[in-house]
Amino acid sequence: MTNNIYFIANWKMYGGTSSLSNLNKLINLSKLKKYSKAKIIYFPPFTLIHNFINKVKRSKISVGGQNCHHVKNYGSFTGSISPKMLKDLGCKYVILGHSENRTAGETNDDINKKIKSALNKNLKIIFCIGETLLEKRNKITHSVLKKQINHGLKGIKNFRNILIAYEPVWSIGTGIIPKENELNLNIAKIRKLISKKTKIKLPILYGGSVNDKNINNLKNISGIKGFLVGSASQKTKKFIDIIKKTIN
Ligand code: PEP
Repeated sequence: MTNNIYFIANWKMYGGTSSLSNLNKLINLSKLKKYSKAKIIYFPPFTLIHNFINKVKRSKISVGGQNCHHVKNYGSFTGSISPKMLKDLGCKYVILGHSENRTAGETNDDINKKIKSALNKNLKIIFCIGETLLEKRNKITHSVLKKQINHGLKGIKNFRNILIAYEPVWSIGTGIIPKENELNLNIAKIRKLISKKTKIKLPILYGGSVNDKNINNLKNISGIKGFLVGSASQKTKKFIDIIKKTIN
């Protein structure tokens, strides 16, 4: 496993063409030796991917898609984007299994098909898993994570291009983050489940209400190789602060 620390900016369904003007400071930061470990990856809405790729092309910042279809090339699927299309635009990554898509009906089986197609097109996968509040209250977090990992990664042989993002659903967009011991236990469980599938130590990232204040606590959790940041990544200053406070 490399020494990289991942900073994932998930813009969800936000942003227009004028939103990119704020990125210059971040592009400059990404070029500094001090932050060479920071692997910054932007996931703008599909409509802005092309603009983003042009904007960051002379920096080390990468760009990815927030989702893709399970058909890897082309097909009659109105409104969908395939792994081939993302690759063609210059994307290196795709987020799959995000809870907002799971809530909208995406199943573990759908996610498994998408992961296989995206890997086939040489995209790297940010594979999101995490329990809902009800599942946490019912104390079934570990069995939920097990199911998501075992179904989502079923039949996968090459794990080199997969990163795991542990995102408790109850933490996304709520301002609430897990307690340190809970996070340690869940990360350890994920690590154990993954180790049954591959010898490769996949990077495990944390996502859920990460901001420029709580990052000081989160960065000390061992076993976390980076952060998936939603709303705070849309404010470039906050996102820069998150990176600076993590790597100081
Ligand atoms: C997310 O988009 O996955 C996320 C973690 O969002 P937020 O940081 O806003 O909770």
